[in-house]
Amino acid sequence: MDGRELVTQISYLTASVLFILGLRSLTKPDKARRGMQQAALGMLLAIIGTLVQAEIVRYEWIIGGLIAGSLLGYPLGMWVPMTAMPQRIAFSHMFGALAATLVGVAEFTNALADGEIIETSQMTALGIEVLFGSLTVTGSFIAFGKLAEFIPGRPLTYKGQNLINGALFATTLGLLIFVIFNPDARLAFFLLVGLAAAIGLFLVLPIGGADMPVVISLLNSYAGLAASATGFAIDNTVLIIAGALDGASGFLLSIIMSRAMNRSFGNILFGAFGSKVTAGAKSAAGMTVQEVSVEDAALRLAYARLAVIVPGYGMAVAQAQHQVKEVTDLIERNGGEVRYAIHPVAGRMPGHMNVLLAEANIPYDSLVEMGEINPQFPETDVALIVGANDVVNPAAVNDPDSPIYGMPIIDAYKAKSVIVLKRSMNPGFAGIENELFYMPNTSMLFGDAKASLTRLAAEMKAL
Ligand code: NDP
Repeated sequence: MDGRELVTQISYLTASVLFILGLRSLTKPDKARRGMQQAALGMLLAIIGTLVQAEIVRYEWIIGGLIAGSLLGYPLGMWVPMTAMPQRIAFSHMFGALAATLVGVAEFTNALADGEIIETSQMTALGIEVLFGSLTVTGSFIAFGKLAEFIPGRPLTYKGQNLINGALFATTLGLLIFVIFNPDARLAFFLLVGLAAAIGLFLVLPIGGADMPVVISLLNSYAGLAASATGFAIDNTVLIIAGALDGASGFLLSIIMSRAMNRSFGNILFGAFGSKVTAGAKSAAGMTVQEVSVEDAALRLAYARLAVIVPGYGMAVAQAQHQVKEVTDLIERNGGEVRYAIHPVAGRMPGHMNVLLAEANIPYDSLVEMGEINPQFPETDVALIVGANDVVNPAAVNDPDSPIYGMPIIDAYKAKSVIVLKRSMNPGFAGIENELFYMPNTSMLFGDAKASLTRLAAEMKAL
């Protein structure tokens, strides 16, 4: 092993250890920042280790790529707002998968041009690489489009869709096996790339926009598999390790998210969730909601001994986290205690609420997970719901016909008094009415959450 090779191997080993440590740190909100720094340092070392390799004959294209990547990456990282993070992630996955697919295509065409016979093991890696890479490119693009709303978010379905998708998948799998045993079959190889791209389209189009975070995390795991296969194809250890970590963590995250929604993978991928909007039984029965004035709501909050704030997607839309903190400080100033109830799928991506609340410097130990906070609601004076809807919907507990029946919820309805901040009676992601809004202990404060909290804070200060 010469000097350069040694530098490469040491960088790769250190990078792999840093990736693992980074993932470990990401499991705790207070260590998450450090986790990102560890992973970023690992990536820098992996890049350095690759750049010193003796096989590189010219650096012009590499430098051009680094400049182009930095020019694209900086605005994506710095300027995209928090609420647009899910689509930004889908967008970056698309590029990651595109890179893996292009490396696979380049390896294949270069080998054919040099008259090399690709070995079965290498062809297997190449085939898997382009299959997962290509379907992740188109799948991520559709996920990005649905979240950015230039493609309709509702599930796009037609009769016999699952059957056609099954046939497409079986054909593609057959083609993969054919290519593995016929490594010079150029047409079949490119057909495989094309059909995999079609699978990505047909798989994601029938899935509702709000299920996209689960899809993205699943596609993330496919991109990881593609990267790992690339590592095998080009004999690059850090790519094998990083791809495997990515593949496994993406897959586990998808499982955690679907469990928190009490939905099976099959239901998310093939159930076209969100295509039907369930009619509101309560409003049909003529029941009305109670509204509360800002003055009354401020009084209740100011004199609460225990207040639990339940943030949801609406807090992210309103970017109301700083105002949430202000109201918290005012309750605490009056001697009350404030806790935050965090549902695992509140918002539109895992950890969405944690990130936003951390941005407002809310201490991590005030964030309480669902299982731990639920028994505390009967003693809670005020549950303040800030733009949450599905995650506090009691239909999940007591209406077996509800599409969200069985999903674990935050038991805010058990609090002595509930104040809901939202703009209208519109439903949340699941498209269903929320009976919490009609309960006798609930009052609605309609309006944008940020504006309502600002008015509440002003009123509380004046008390
Ligand atoms: P929901 O989507 O159920 O509800 C959000 C509510 O916020 C809406 O009812 C809306 O009402 C309100 N809102 C929107 N904008 C504002 C605003 N500016 N000010 C005040 N309120 C506002 O959110 P939840 O967080 O309760 O639930 C998340 C849902 O997303 C769950 O169904 C979950 O399964 C799903 N999901 C979550 C994922 C995740 O990883 N977190 C992944 C995939 C799906 P109005 O328009 O009247 O203001």
